[in-house]
Amino acid sequence: MYDFIPDNPYILLTPGPLSTSKGVRNAMLQDWCTWDAEYNEGVVQSVRRRLVSLATATKPREYTAVPMQGSGSFAVEACLGSAMPPSGKLLIVHNGAYGRRMVRMARVLRIDFLEYGVGETETHEAARVAEILSQNPEITHAALVHCETGTGLLNPLAELAAAVKAEGKALIVDAMSTFGGIPFDVGALGADFLISSANKCIQGVPGFAFVIAKREVLARCEGNARSLCLDLHDQWQEMDRTGKWRYTSPTHVVRAFDRALDELAEEGGVPARYARYRENHRTLVEGMQRLGFRTLLTDVLQSPVITSFLYPNSEFDFPDFYRKVKEYGFVLYPGNLSRADTFRIGTIGEVRPADIRRLLDAIAEIRS
Ligand SMILES: *Cc1c(COP(=O)(O)O)cnc(C)c1O
Repeated sequence: MYDFIPDNPYILLTPGPLSTSKGVRNAMLQDWCTWDAEYNEGVVQSVRRRLVSLATATKPREYTAVPMQGSGSFAVEACLGSAMPPSGKLLIVHNGAYGRRMVRMARVLRIDFLEYGVGETETHEAARVAEILSQNPEITHAALVHCETGTGLLNPLAELAAAVKAEGKALIVDAMSTFGGIPFDVGALGADFLISSANKCIQGVPGFAFVIAKREVLARCEGNARSLCLDLHDQWQEMDRTGKWRYTSPTHVVRAFDRALDELAEEGGVPARYARYRENHRTLVEGMQRLGFRTLLTDVLQSPVITSFLYPNSEFDFPDFYRKVKEYGFVLYPGNLSRADTFRIGTIGEVRPADIRRLLDAIAEIRS
């Protein structure tokens, strides 16, 4: 059916963007108008409804999905800038590059905040977060990252969310690299805002991101935004009224995303995708260990999304290794750490255990 769509010259093990299916890429081969019912009702509103059902089976009526043009960071910035009232104070819980990016955003947006950071190979204790919140009653919101894609570390979302909600604070979760790939229920977590993007576990192409927001909380955010374009409340209002994006909609990307949602359902939904990602990850780590590589993180902290490997020795030349692996048809990711020498391999996207086995064969040849 997709014979006319070229194969990718290499597999992206770099989430994201990540490798997508031919079906997803095919959806972009036509131009679509943005304003009529076929698009606004048939595609945009349907995508929004499907995102809410993916996010929560328990409380779908309490949540809405608001897409925002741009990469994932644009939606994080839109969310922080729109969720925080002028008098609010934000606790930013971080242990890596993406958590620290929220700190930079809060500074630029002039949001009053307190940061609580631990090392890049450590996770957060829910009890410590609860303690900080109770010692700082002026804090109104807490923001945290589910999977720190900078290292691959998976933070204990359920425990942290429970601690934040028990203290009565609003919760903002950057679930960029886990939504659609690791099962959880936003309603059960009680999260007020949860952010993800088109080009991670849903396996779409880059161009927009989205916030799953608790309606009654978002309804109180009118006038908070520090930016016209990144006003989540205004985007929501306009979309609920007309199905229209404020300003040009990334039509091709939205069509591709719609198709990616179909394919997620065909695969068996989030549990099936999670099982595939875990199998990719297990195959990768076992194979890399056989080849003499060690992971940065202990198994309990590791997500199935992306894995950081330590350089095997001081002579290891990552740019050379990267180039050779690419000749075999695989693109890796450099590390993103201040301290250790690492590189990263992603296991999400249109990638299967057989692809990972081919990668391992290639690395074995390169290293022999
Ligand atoms: C990918 C990602 C982002 C957003 O990055 P962009 O490059 O702006 O798309 C934010 N947080 C996490 C945890 C991510 O994995």
